[in-house]
Parts: sequence; C-alpha cells; structure tokens
Amino acid sequence: MSLPILAALFAQTAIAAGAAPLDESEEIRILLQVGRGPLRIGAERLTLVPNEGETTSLEGAQASLACVQGRVVAAGKKYVGPVAIAAEGPLEVLGRRLRGQIEVSCAGQLWTAINVLPMETYLTAVLGGEMPPGFPPEALKAQAVAARSYALMRKIDARDQGKPYHLSATVLSQVYAGLSREDPRTATAVEATRGEVLAQGVTPVEAYFHASCGGKTETGSAALGRPLDYLKSVSCPCQARSPYAHWRVEVAAEELAKAVGLTSVADAEVASRTSGGRASKLRVKSEHGEERTPSAIQVRASLGYQRLPSTWFDLHKEGGRFVFEGRGSGHGAGLCQWGARLLAEEGQGYREILAHYYPGTEVEKIY
Ligand SMILES: [Zn+2]
Repeated sequence: MSLPILAALFAQTAIAAGAAPLDESEEIRILLQVGRGPLRIGAERLTLVPNEGETTSLEGAQASLACVQGRVVAAGKKYVGPVAIAAEGPLEVLGRRLRGQIEVSCAGQLWTAINVLPMETYLTAVLGGEMPPGFPPEALKAQAVAARSYALMRKIDARDQGKPYHLSATVLSQVYAGLSREDPRTATAVEATRGEVLAQGVTPVEAYFHASCGGKTETGSAALGRPLDYLKSVSCPCQARSPYAHWRVEVAAEELAKAVGLTSVADAEVASRTSGGRASKLRVKSEHGEERTPSAIQVRASLGYQRLPSTWFDLHKEGGRFVFEGRGSGHGAGLCQWGARLLAEEGQGYREILAHYYPGTEVEKIY
C-alpha cells in the first residue's frame, strides 16, 4: 500500500467535503466466486450491460452465462471483456440474494463473478453479518464506521495492486450474505454514519474488529502482525456479559498432532505469551521426543477459528486429551463488539467507543 495514494485520496475527499459526492469512494466490488460451467442469475427485468456494445434487455427471469475461450457467452452472443447483469430489484446468484450488479469476466473457461454495489448498501448487509442487530444503536454505529474504514482500506489496497475486486464475501474479509442479513436497525446505523471513516491524520485506519477480547484488547502487532500505533492494548468491560467470557475446549492428542505437524503428542504447553497475556508460542512434544514450537495463531488456524475461539488460553493435559481453557473470541485487535455493547449501554456514543478502541484516531466524513 502506498501512503502517497492514501494521502491523495484524502486530499481529494477533503476538497470534495460538502461538494458533490465522490463516486470513487461509494462503489465497492465484492468477489463472489470463481467457477466454470453455466452461471445462472435470476431477477425481475434483467438487463445485460457489456463493457463494449449496447445494453440488452433479457427475456424471462433468468440469465445463463458461460465462458468460452475467454469470452463471455450470454443471450446467444459472445462478448469480449466483462459483462454486467443488472435488474430493477435484487439478483439471485450462487445461493444469495444481492443488490447492485453482477459483473462476469472470463479467463479461458473460468468465470469470475463480482458483485458491484454502493458502499453504503454493502455495509447494510455486512453489518448484520458482523454484529447482532439487537446490539445498542451506538454500538452498531461504531461497527458501521469500523466496517466502512476497513472496506475503504481494502479498496485502496486492491487499487494499488490492480485487482478487479476489493473484498471477498467470506469471514476472511467481512461476512457478506446479501439481503438475508439486512435489518432496519443495521440500516439505520449505516445511514446515520454515512461516509464516515476512522482516520489518523490523512490516513484511513485499518479498523480491525472482533467479537470479544476477553477483558483487554491485543496490540495489532501481536494479533495480526500489524504494528499500528492505534491498535494498542486497551482495557475492556466485555467479560461482564460476553458469552465468550470463559470457554473450555478439549482436543484429542491425534487432532493436536495433526494441527502441529507431528505423528503424536505426548505433552503440550504454552511456551510464551504476548505482553497482553495471550499465548504466543506453544511447545509440543511427540512420543518420540520430537518438538515443535508453533505460534498460537497457527494452532488456532489449524484447529479452526470456531473450535479455538481465541489465543488467550491456558493449556494442560487431562487423561490423554489436551484442554484449552480460555477467554474471548477473535484475534483481539481493535474494536471489541461485546465491549462496544457494554460501553453503549453505559451511555457512550459511537465516537467515544471508537476513540476507546482506536486511540489517537478521529471520525472523518469523506462523502
Ligand atoms: Zn472486550
């Protein structure tokens, strides 16, 4: 990522503040899937918008596209370059109902389907996937600003790398399920913070967030390898109410062995901790005396993010099984969602909540 580009973007948006909205900031491109064979898209009043050539209205409520030798084949014609499918209402594609347009491009026989839609529409759908809509309005607004900042950063990164999309639709980017996750309460939070992102000086912030920190957030450096000064370890009230306050996970020796690349495990312990208290390295010994010292983050990824909710744990052996006892859920950096809920219930506004979890940053309205 290049800082001059970020600075230029913000300089541009600063000039545009109060003037006409910036289209550039308002569109987001989400990778849905790469696949082969026919791609079916359903909707009312479909139109086909090729990169070159005329827009065509399609008959019926379904379009079927495919790739042949790098060309998009649709409605009996071949197109060079991407083709967008638009409709008056939501589109049904790949098991999701989505707003905006679906852009399809081909490489040989492989198609790539990208959902192109306004950033604010995307955020309304994302918010319901990331935070329970029943959380207090100020917590939802804090989450909306964090999600918008995160999406903007990813968009700037993608542009620097020349990628045709900005984010994917999985938990690795932000959970995006389309219309099924829209909710009037999340829509209100997005609308109330329209165009607002977190920034430090002229730089948009990498606004990471997670479900529940366990009582203290983790530094960006320890949690994600991002040594950013606004991702400090800060205290958090989430333990009072979070369903992840205390958890216990039992893992069979064979499963742990597989996760760390050994044939067996005789013994395992936490070998070192981060300054925030989370496990940093484990020491795992096999029955043949082999030793591995994987990072706790690697072990969590191998066992599964759901299975091992966080890296803040103790580890001991109990009757041939290995017991992880821990607190929190997620990587622990940036905004803690359960903490945000409690701060909101105590009467804090979303700006205060964001200032707590991302110290030294400010909310800026960029469109
Ligand atoms: Zn917390």
